[in-house]
Amino acid sequence: MRIFSVTQNLFLQRGTFENNHTDYSQYRVPVLRQDSFTGKNISKEYNTYGKKAIISLIKHGVTCLCCGKKMIDPADISKMEKSGFFNQNPKLILTGLKQYEDLMPSLEKRIYKLLCSLNEKYPNISLKKLLKIKKVDIETKLIDKQSKVFGNIYNYGKKYLSDEKFEQLGEIFQECYDEIYGRKLHTTFSRKKFIGFIYLFTRDLDKKQANKLISLAEKMPSSKDMYEAFIIKYSRKSDKEIVMRLLQRSVGTIEHIKPKAEDGSDNIYNYALECANDNWNRSSNPMFLQISQNPKMPANAQKQVNQIIELVNQKKCNVDGKYVHALKDALYRESGGIINLDISKLKE
Ligand SMILES: [Zn+2]
Repeated sequence: MRIFSVTQNLFLQRGTFENNHTDYSQYRVPVLRQDSFTGKNISKEYNTYGKKAIISLIKHGVTCLCCGKKMIDPADISKMEKSGFFNQNPKLILTGLKQYEDLMPSLEKRIYKLLCSLNEKYPNISLKKLLKIKKVDIETKLIDKQSKVFGNIYNYGKKYLSDEKFEQLGEIFQECYDEIYGRKLHTTFSRKKFIGFIYLFTRDLDKKQANKLISLAEKMPSSKDMYEAFIIKYSRKSDKEIVMRLLQRSVGTIEHIKPKAEDGSDNIYNYALECANDNWNRSSNPMFLQISQNPKMPANAQKQVNQIIELVNQKKCNVDGKYVHALKDALYRESGGIINLDISKLKE
């Protein structure tokens, strides 16, 4: 995660600051009006209450601010842990997950379907072992994709790097190949670690070369979005970890509209309900970048506020009209005016 944000920041520096006209300074103004509900007077209990109030919107069917999908209530996950859900036989685990299938992102859904169909064939085999069975078919395919990335870095390095640096690169590759082909006893290949190596390797290079190498390294297949990489990685994990991974991106979370890293306040008037997937993808990036990657976000934010307004008007939830106004205000400021919610249906 840390490496991800380092490289994201690099991306921002090289891609956005240098050659477009976006004025970042506007994203650093405080989002919230300085009233009695912001700043130091707010107690920790009040923040916890605020988080609970926002999360409780999930059970009323309120959808994600960014992608517009329904979300899993984090309380469901805690219940699973307490009830020993993960210790059941694989058939029961998969049946229990059925209710969340439609909420899963596409890769997770594809893996879930794969597990269900393998489970039909091998009913008593753990989820981990089912992934291991599949691993045999796809390992070569993944290695092909990984080799292509190594090849591109190799070609670039051969052309532009000094002999000494090129040799160092060879050592990194050797290590990676040993891990990929299982020639190391205690370590396995990790994309995150590899990008970390390349990041460290490029620190004494000029900026252009460093950025190019890092962007080539980031093309390494990831279990976050690639079927084959998911299967290889999770065939080494426990059934509980596999299930958590299938669910975790769809869980509802608190998004800090103005990121905490940018001094965004930690209280209800800076909170919005968003799925973990979108929350993690945004990290602490400015909201306009999130919108550019999710063009339907303004419409989905409107969809969310319409649902909240209906609940507030009927006094069916734990947030009030003040929250609706603050949400509008905070999103407007953080998005530089791109998200301009219509809250006219709110009964004052
Ligand atoms: Zn979402």
